[in-house]
Amino acid sequence: MAKNEQGTMEKIVSLCKRRGFVFPSSEIYGGFAAVYDYGPLGVELSNNIKKAWWKTMVHEREDVVGLDSAIFMSPKVWEASGHVNGFSDPLTECKKCNVRHRVDHMLESIDVFADEKMSVEEISALFEENKDKLKCPKCGAQEFTEIRNFNLLVQSNLGNFTGDWAENPVYLRGETCQGIYVNYKNVVDSMHMKVPFGIAQTGKAFRNEITARQFIFRTREFEQMEMQYFVHPDDAMKFYDEWKERRMQFYVDIGINEENLQWHKHENLVFYAKEAYDIEYKYPFGWKELEGIHARGDYDLSQHCEHSGQKLEYVDQVKNEKYTPHVVETSAGVARTMLAVLADAYTEEEVEGDTRVVLKLNTKLAPFKIAVLPLSKKDELVTPARELFKKLSKKYIVDFDITQSIGKRYRRQDEVGTPYCITFDFDSLEDKAVTVRDRDTMKQDRVTIAELEAYFAEKLD
Ligand code: ATP
Repeated sequence: MAKNEQGTMEKIVSLCKRRGFVFPSSEIYGGFAAVYDYGPLGVELSNNIKKAWWKTMVHEREDVVGLDSAIFMSPKVWEASGHVNGFSDPLTECKKCNVRHRVDHMLESIDVFADEKMSVEEISALFEENKDKLKCPKCGAQEFTEIRNFNLLVQSNLGNFTGDWAENPVYLRGETCQGIYVNYKNVVDSMHMKVPFGIAQTGKAFRNEITARQFIFRTREFEQMEMQYFVHPDDAMKFYDEWKERRMQFYVDIGINEENLQWHKHENLVFYAKEAYDIEYKYPFGWKELEGIHARGDYDLSQHCEHSGQKLEYVDQVKNEKYTPHVVETSAGVARTMLAVLADAYTEEEVEGDTRVVLKLNTKLAPFKIAVLPLSKKDELVTPARELFKKLSKKYIVDFDITQSIGKRYRRQDEVGTPYCITFDFDSLEDKAVTVRDRDTMKQDRVTIAELEAYFAEKLD
C-alpha cells in the first residue's frame, strides 16, 4: 500500500488502541483533551526510540554527556529564557462555535506563510488580507475574535500554600533544554568537559497548545529528546552542519524511509538565531516538523548569565581565551518520532485473499523481538515452550502467547511488528527443533533449540 494515503491515520490510531500502544488519557471519564497514555507496547516502543537516541547521542560519543534535570525549576529560569513574555502562539476564537484556533495554522492551511514568531500586528494584517478565504475548521463560520498572543507555559502551585499562587506561578517546563543551560557550569566543573561538548537529556515538557487534534503529534504533555552542543563562536556553523547531517541519518538508521524525510529551512528567524532547519516527516496529514536543529548563538547562556548574575563563560586555558560558547541545539519529540515510525512501518498486504496488517518496524524498535507460541494449550507443549520463553527473555523482550489459533496469533504479532515468531509443536518434543517465522517474508525456518541463540544473535544483535 502507498504510504500516507487518506485513511492511514485512522487505521494507525485504531491499531494503537486495539493493540496496546496508545490510549486516550482518562478514557473511563470521557477522556482528557490533548493528553495520551502509552500502553504496554507503546511504552516499549517509546523506550526503544529513546534508547536508540541515547545510544547515538550519548553513549557512542566521547564529547556528549547525559543529564536528567527536574521538571520544576525556579520561575526565574523562564523569565531569563524569554518564555514568560514571549512563548506564545497567535490565537483567535470562532464567534459561532467558540472553538479556539492557532492563526498561523489557519493561514498555512490556505497556503499563506505565517509563523508563531510574527508579531500580533503582522499576523493580524495577514489574517485581514485573507479573511474571505478563512473558515472555522470546526463549523465553517467566518467570524473571528481579535487575534491575541496566548502564552503556552503551564502553571502550577508547587510549594505555594497561600492560595495566591496565580500571581507567582511555578511553571511546568515548556522545554527540557533550559535544564541543560542552567546546569552548564555544573557539568563543566564536575566532568571537566572541554569545548566543543554536548549535554543531552530526554524528558517531559508541557505546553498549553491551543489546538491539539493530530493524535500524539501535538499534545499538551509530551517528551523531548534534546541536546545542546557548546562550541567556540568561530566554529558554530561547522558543527551545525555536522549535527544536521547526523540527525537526519538517525531517522534513516531507525528505519524511516528517506523519501518521507525532508529539510525545512526557517525563513523568519528569531533575532539571536544564526540558522534554523526542521527535519520534516511526511505524516498522513502532510509534511510536519519532527525535529528542530538550531544554531542559537550565545543567547541562552548570555540570558542566564545576565539574570542569575553568575559567570557562564568558558575558559580555554590552553589558548588563554575566555568566551561565552555558542549553542547548536538538536530538539526532537518522542511521540512525533513514534508516529513517524508507525506511519512508515504500517503496511497492508494481500495474503491468500485476505488483508494482512503488518508493522514493518526496524528490529531495534520493535516492542517484542520474538514471540513464543506453543501450538496447543496442552501442558506437554506449554511447559517446554515456557522454558524456552524464560531462556530467551533473559536477552530479548519476548511475548508468550497461547490464546487462539496459530494463524490468529501470527497476525496479532504481525500487527505489533514482532520480527520473529517461534512455534513449538508436537514434533519439537522429538526433534528438539522449532519453527521460526519471519514477519516480513513469512518464510519459515526449522531451527534446533540448541542453535536458537546463535540464530537470533545473527538476526537481532
Ligand atoms: P510546532 O511548530 O510543531 O509547534 P515547535 O517548533 O514549537 O513545534 P520546538 O519548540 O522546536 O517545537 O520543540 C522541539 C520538538 O519537540 C519538536 O520538533 C517536536 O518534535 C516536539 N514537540 C514540540 N511541541 C510538541 C507537542 N505539543 N507535542 C508533541 N511534541 C512536541
